[in-house]
Amino acid sequence: MFKNVIAPVQAWLLSQGRCVGCGSDLSAGKKESHPNGEKITCLKCHRIFIREIDSGKFRRALFEEV
Ligand SMILES: [Zn+2]
Repeated sequence: MFKNVIAPVQAWLLSQGRCVGCGSDLSAGKKESHPNGEKITCLKCHRIFIREIDSGKFRRALFEEV
């Protein structure tokens, strides 16, 4: 039940280019090149995201991508 509430909020935050953990603007995060796009580390909570080349959308990095 809890998960059903959290998922849309996280999706919305990512669509805004914001960290799902703390809401920080990911454009201010630490950027590194990555085979799948751009790897971005949140400076506040150190969550790792991937910005995909094709869509330009942010998503959480998969375990094997970290
Ligand atoms: Zn964060």
